[in-house]
Amino acid sequence: MTAAAAELMDYDQVIAEFDPVMGLEVHVELGTATKMFCGCPTAFGADPNTQVCPVCIGLPGSLPVVNQKAIEYAIRIGLALNCSIRPSSVFARKNYFYPDQPKNYQISQYDEPIAFDGYLDVQLTDGTTWRVDIERAHMEEDTGKSLHIGGSGRIQGADHSLLDYNRAGVPLVEIVTKPIVGAGERAPEVARAYVTALRDLLKALEVSDVRMDQGSLRCDANLSLMAKDATEFGTRTETKNVNSLKSVEIAVTYEMRRQAAVLTAGGEIVQETRHFHETDGTTSAGRRKETAEDYRYFPEPDLPPVQPSEEWIAELGTTLPELPWVRRARIQEEWGVSDEVMRDLVNVGAVDLIIATVDAGASPEAARGWWVSFLAQQANSRGVELADLPISPAQVATVIGLVDEGKLTTKLAQQVATAVLDGEGEPEQIVADRGLEVVRDDSALQKAIDEALANNPDIVEKIRGGKVKAAGKIVGDVMKATRGQADPARVQELVLAACQ
Ligand code: ADP
Ligand code: MG
Ligand code: ZN
Repeated sequence: MTAAAAELMDYDQVIAEFDPVMGLEVHVELGTATKMFCGCPTAFGADPNTQVCPVCIGLPGSLPVVNQKAIEYAIRIGLALNCSIRPSSVFARKNYFYPDQPKNYQISQYDEPIAFDGYLDVQLTDGTTWRVDIERAHMEEDTGKSLHIGGSGRIQGADHSLLDYNRAGVPLVEIVTKPIVGAGERAPEVARAYVTALRDLLKALEVSDVRMDQGSLRCDANLSLMAKDATEFGTRTETKNVNSLKSVEIAVTYEMRRQAAVLTAGGEIVQETRHFHETDGTTSAGRRKETAEDYRYFPEPDLPPVQPSEEWIAELGTTLPELPWVRRARIQEEWGVSDEVMRDLVNVGAVDLIIATVDAGASPEAARGWWVSFLAQQANSRGVELADLPISPAQVATVIGLVDEGKLTTKLAQQVATAVLDGEGEPEQIVADRGLEVVRDDSALQKAIDEALANNPDIVEKIRGGKVKAAGKIVGDVMKATRGQADPARVQELVLAACQ
């Protein structure tokens, strides 16, 4: 079902007439080995319903037990977001019927979340910092997944639906911002920058694999508009499960333009959830939003309050890693690059990849060169983000090492990297399989050189006459004859020697 195309207002006009107000809710699946309230494994991609037990499929009489690791992760997230940690927080039952939620309620934290009142400073593309205030970070459990069979894969038009409860009960932390006010035309950029910074932070904390494409990081974007003379927030919509960084920016822009058109035409914004459509960057109406009362929250009677000791919280505070932006500032100094260069590296998402490549043994210059030129082009032509290229920093470092050792020329090295990207295996294996190593054996080169010299007597004359530059053509022929596997500098030496 496609919704009728909505009226959209021109973006500049939206900004002239309205102020956007945003609220971002990010769900992160924790990377614990087991689920939130039972011992079932959490691994992604297992056969349906093979990671379930009486607790996570809600059989009567089963009892939940809190996963201590999940609490530890939630506290570390809270501390990294500059939140206060509540000495005693409780779980509640959030009651609603959903086929992929077998208990008919979700165990979640409601009025006493474990972490609250924090902030995250995020960098915008022009290098300025924007502070996003955090309202709370609370723990809850994930739902299962419905698979709609037949039709387009959506529930409309499907023949039947299947339920997979492997994900039911996987620990989640939901991080909710306070309303973000005053961003104006930069609202979509702030939204993207925030989710990016949060992703980097969670990754550095090693609490999640933060794969947006696999749903381990999911963003819901709330948006409303205020007319320039208004004193109260407008009615918001909540666009659900926006599953890439780019989509966050697109979804916010779209809602701003759609809501502005509705309001200007004298219409009202309905408080509702909206679906984001990846394919055309639009949103369409979902369900009318329940209010808190509809969920009939009450304290979970089967779980005691979570009461982390002050000592434990303090101890967890000492395990926080260097934060990504602090690390970045340090790295910039180490690499000795300008603010502009660093900002470009940040904007293309190359910094952490370069750091990892350097950690794996490459020089900063070589690592930077590879990620911002050859690999950036590859990402571009393959239509993926740099970080999602199927080559690891360690593999890039290996390729750079082969160049440093003189085993590969840059051209050959790019062939090897391309083969890694095409899934052909490890760099060394590819070099061996394809016989790509630089020809080091002078006698093997000499044959090709003799041939090239014999074919170009006029050039030989020129070289002998002192025109060293003319040797370029001979070197080119030799490189061609050796399928790029000779070292051009060595060939040049041998050519000149032969013409003496
Ligand atoms: P819900 O249960 O509806 O998801 P939450 O409190 O979890 O509500 O999240 C609501 C989000 O929307 C928060 O980030 C909040 O700051 C933000 N928000 C609240 N009111 C508005 C508004 N009028 N316009 C935009 N965002 C809002
Ligand atoms: Mg919410
Ligand atoms: Zn279970």
